[in-house]
Amino acid sequence: MKKLLADRTNLIDSSGIRKVFALAASLKDPVNFSIGQPDFDVPAEVKAAAIKAIERGHNKYSQTIGDRTLLNKITEQLKTDYGWEEPSLLITSGVSGGLLLAFMALIDPGDEVIMTDPYFVIYKHVVNMIGGKCVFVENYPDFRLPVEGIAEAAGERTKLIILNSPANPTGAVCTRQEIEAIAEVARQKDILVMSDEIYENFCYDTGCPSIANYYDKTLLLKGFSKSHAMTGWRMGYVAGTEAVKEVIEEMTKIQQYTFVCAPTPFQKSAIAALDCDMSEYVAAYKKKRDMIYEGLRDKFDLTRPGGAFYAFVRAPRWAKSATEFVEKAIANNVLVIPGCVFSEKDTHFRISYATTDEKIAQGIEILTGLTDS
Ligand code: PMP
Repeated sequence: MKKLLADRTNLIDSSGIRKVFALAASLKDPVNFSIGQPDFDVPAEVKAAAIKAIERGHNKYSQTIGDRTLLNKITEQLKTDYGWEEPSLLITSGVSGGLLLAFMALIDPGDEVIMTDPYFVIYKHVVNMIGGKCVFVENYPDFRLPVEGIAEAAGERTKLIILNSPANPTGAVCTRQEIEAIAEVARQKDILVMSDEIYENFCYDTGCPSIANYYDKTLLLKGFSKSHAMTGWRMGYVAGTEAVKEVIEEMTKIQQYTFVCAPTPFQKSAIAALDCDMSEYVAAYKKKRDMIYEGLRDKFDLTRPGGAFYAFVRAPRWAKSATEFVEKAIANNVLVIPGCVFSEKDTHFRISYATTDEKIAQGIEILTGLTDS
């Protein structure tokens, strides 16, 4: 029989997060710590802008690069935030869309991509799918940026270093010293850095320094999914200086033949989103972070997360693997994700605390009750 599927389908596994998410459907009112999206709704003025855009007929393709008003608005912000003269910019279908385009534009078979382990799942699977080679640099147990390890791992075939701060799944936020040090490594070795800053708003203790302020060969990826709770609207963008202009141009070309453009009405709503003050939501999430950390720290090994809405927690010693503990947690109505979804190790589990304070309290009580089993 003729082979139906391409070999690349063997290189990826269906997302472990989705599997747990599907399981949630069969449980009655579980504590759902599994999925990485805010529990608040899109702000009313942003919804109104989307509805108005649809009613006014913004329902056709936009230019591939994006809606001109949105591009201008983001450009102004980039100039202010990074001092970039004439930034290159492309509006993408979520940050996921930007990641795919970037990998397609940059990675040849065998090219190496350095990422910390734990990592955000998409990086590993998409790099593998297009024939690249992931080089993992572990940063257990405190999840600080492993600058020396990255410097050692960077070699002739390194095409890209990926940074993700605040990070999924650990919630770690890079310090300015770490960012400056990694910028120096990248500069010395002349390697492009991809900085996924989708969680930049969710930063609770200090600022969230960006490598874009320290290194011009940075491909900056940002989005609206988390900041404005519009995960289903698929809005993101990629930006950079003259040094990465060519990359963004090639990504734009690939977008022409793939996504075509980001969803037009939601590009219009993103203009409104940029004017929306989200600080109250972030303050509420800081409180949730404190609840989780304070509630679990006596019974579990965990590092205090500084951002995003995740905690990456060591499974209790009685469990042979984190997966075994996760099964137990799910049997007790708490959905968490085994760390092996985001790592080559299976020692930790991810909590997404993007849920109500009530559910967080309930989840803490159940999880702490499982540590001595
Ligand atoms: N990067 C990171 C680190 C993420 O956690 C996510 C979403 N889980 C994305 C990118 C993709 O987000 P989206 O495609 O919705 O913009």
